[in-house]
Amino acid sequence: MRNVRVFEEAWPLHTPFVIARGSRSEAKVVVVELEQDGVKGVGECTPYPRYGESIASVMAQIVSIGEQLERGLTRDALAELLPAGAARNAVDCALWELEAGLANATIPAMLHQTLAKTITTAQTVVIGTPEQMAASAKALFEGGARLLKVKLDDRLIAERMVAIRAAAPEATLIVDANESWHGEGLAARCQLLADLNVAMLEQPLPATDDSALENFIHPLPICADESCHTRESLPALHGRYDMVNIKLDKTGGLTEALALAQEARAQGFALMLGCMLCTSRAISAALPLTPQVTFADLDGPTWLAVDAEPALHFTTGQLHL
Ligand SMILES: [Mg+2]
Repeated sequence: MRNVRVFEEAWPLHTPFVIARGSRSEAKVVVVELEQDGVKGVGECTPYPRYGESIASVMAQIVSIGEQLERGLTRDALAELLPAGAARNAVDCALWELEAGLANATIPAMLHQTLAKTITTAQTVVIGTPEQMAASAKALFEGGARLLKVKLDDRLIAERMVAIRAAAPEATLIVDANESWHGEGLAARCQLLADLNVAMLEQPLPATDDSALENFIHPLPICADESCHTRESLPALHGRYDMVNIKLDKTGGLTEALALAQEARAQGFALMLGCMLCTSRAISAALPLTPQVTFADLDGPTWLAVDAEPALHFTTGQLHL
């Protein structure tokens, strides 16, 4: 028998996280702990209201499979019980850790991987005035970040981006509009970003209304985030997106994330690895994806006032393993 614990945690941020959908002051996560034969496996997820999830709904999903978990549920069987999403992610990652622990191995070793000692991560510039965003970009670049992820909404696109580019002329810039733009004017905005040497644009249009992406040749790569959850999302992305942003909270864990990465690459998509506001536990679980991705955006824990232990070692723009 396994012991199963499910609980919620709230981790205050040191600075409000402002994106097109709103502002956050804490990371609310759900944690699953499994214990078997003296070995523990821990998984964390961040329920996301955009996908119809709350702390309560995700905890209820996990509790609903509590007996199966106690009796030794496997990852393969889990995929049949819970849909892709945060709840399955926490359980899947806990099962991976438990499997590794029971085999006296690490997860990268189970996957025959050696991870890089240093991983470049994007650092996020959240929405503010053009001056605030430029100052943030400058400070991050001077602190050592070389990849900046700029959050935008539907306002002041040129003002913000011109100010940021002037403040960090050497930085690699990627932009995330979080579904806040419209088909009208989209091609001109993409050209503006390309002219400012922006390396990629993430999810400009709503996932439910992104057909306008087919109507022009992209002057910079466009990445699907809200439009890409699992392998099942891929057929609809052809002709609209060039890259997919893989997040374990969308795929429902590492198992499907690895399968999505393989299938997306086979279909010609480049890969990005993203995260929600989370602790180092969730980033550790995603690390096996890092060798395959063009951009890693793993700065979630750097927004926390205090991280969970054992905390990963971040410096500005880098994760040191
Ligand atoms: Mg995004």
